Amino acid sequence: MKTFEISDDEAAAADAWLEEHAKTCKVWRPKTEGLFAGQVYHGAIGGAVSYTFTPTSLGTLCHIECACGEKALCNGDNF
Ligand SMILES: [Zn+2]
Repeated sequence: MKTFEISDDEAAAADAWLEEHAKTCKVWRPKTEGLFAGQVYHGAIGGAVSYTFTPTSLGTLCHIECACGEKALCNGDNF
């Protein structure tokens, strides 16, 4: 088995990027009314955010991608 992981710092940076990105994303919009007002809904099983790991000779690169196509490195830097 091969597993990929990100550090706690990277996870926090990725979450911070997503939170900031959600403010301007055309896809990642919180509902404005109803039972789930204030929450983002992307279907029953989610899947709006992807984490991609790319092994290279310099180490494993990780980037996060929103369903709208915007990307950032897992450490929150611009892609
Ligand atoms: Zn987006």
